[in-house]
Amino acid sequence: MKQLAKRANIIKPSATVALTTRAKLLKKEGKDIIIMAAGEPDFDTPDYIKEYAIDAIQKGFTKYTPAEGTVELRMAIAEKLKRDNNLEYDWKDIVVSNGAKQAIANTLMVIIDEGDEVIIPSPYWVTYTSLVELVGGKPVIVKTKIENEFKLTPEELEKHITPKTKAIILNSPSNPTGSVYTLEELKALGEIIEKHDLFVISDEIYEKIIYDGYKHISIASISDKLKENTIIINGVSKSHAMTGWRVGFSASNSEIAKKIAALQSQLSHHTASISQKAAEIAFLKNDGSVEKMRKEFEKRRDKIVEMLSNIEGIKFNIPHGAFYVFPDVSYFYRKRYKNWYIKNSLDLSEFLLEKVGLAAVSGIAFGEDSCIRFSYATNIDNIIEGINRFKKALEMLL
Ligand code: PMP
Ligand code: GLU
Repeated sequence: MKQLAKRANIIKPSATVALTTRAKLLKKEGKDIIIMAAGEPDFDTPDYIKEYAIDAIQKGFTKYTPAEGTVELRMAIAEKLKRDNNLEYDWKDIVVSNGAKQAIANTLMVIIDEGDEVIIPSPYWVTYTSLVELVGGKPVIVKTKIENEFKLTPEELEKHITPKTKAIILNSPSNPTGSVYTLEELKALGEIIEKHDLFVISDEIYEKIIYDGYKHISIASISDKLKENTIIINGVSKSHAMTGWRVGFSASNSEIAKKIAALQSQLSHHTASISQKAAEIAFLKNDGSVEKMRKEFEKRRDKIVEMLSNIEGIKFNIPHGAFYVFPDVSYFYRKRYKNWYIKNSLDLSEFLLEKVGLAAVSGIAFGEDSCIRFSYATNIDNIIEGINRFKKALEMLL
């Protein structure tokens, strides 16, 4: 066999997806596993959305749609951007894709050339670095500090900008840290971004999952120049518990939107017609279920924070959004239990899975080896049991 493309060696399987799949398999085999790995709401898609989609199937809405998505859905998204984010987009500048993940991949393919640098604040969502590498770009990882709630400061940003810097990826609320940037913080970053004329890929997928009175701000709403250079990424996966439907979108300037549409017309053409119908009603109608789920996530966040606060040796920032908490567990590195020796976050993740049946993703997957990520997108009983197991495992190592 001839050699595969270099590209095939660059791409690694998503660590979050891999661990979740492995844990689910163990559970299926009858093992007692608490899964706090999955970044996916455990709620079902609200009924009004499902009913609308069923109706669309029955009416035969089963054919190809435009590559960019249906006009109705793109109009519904334009309305959402105005209503929720105070942003005026022509519906033609919105491209619907197979999840926010494809929207990010599309964007990178359109804006990044071989050797271009893309600034990625760390900890970051696993997929960013892989996709940047896949398109030939160079991820420039900027380490942030737990003391700053893992948020990038303007100084940290400016220090890493070079003539090759093309773009920055921002994610607020953040996976894995749960941090939320305030208006002032975004303005300060925005000044540097404008000065250096960078593109911003603003991943706002956790917009609706936000606590403590924090308000989600899109950096594109800060100035006309930032709007021109920002590609907003969002979707229904997390807000409406619709991960499996695969609907995300990008909103950008017209030139970028046209290129993304052309690219997608060659790649996947479009996301499923029925899923587009479902997303359309999700954006148009509000039956209170998004807020109901948010409230439930907040209760779970309170519980997990309360439980983690009672564990010695770890430190963490209080997540104000998303459904993850990312404690620093490095105190337990270089500790032993029987034939186990914990060197890093991968070892600890393995130890948790093997010894106490708890699946949590190693921090190194997100570029921060001192931490481990728990998803609390699972019911309170699982959270209580999961964190009790975590405590028990750490005590074994003391
Ligand atoms: N961005 C972040 C930060 C995420 O955690 C996820 C989760 N999968 C995505 C994007 C992709 O979402 P989607 O399911 O819409 O592809
Ligand atoms: N975004 C989720 C996570 O971080 C889902 C899995 C994935 O796409 O990475 O766990």
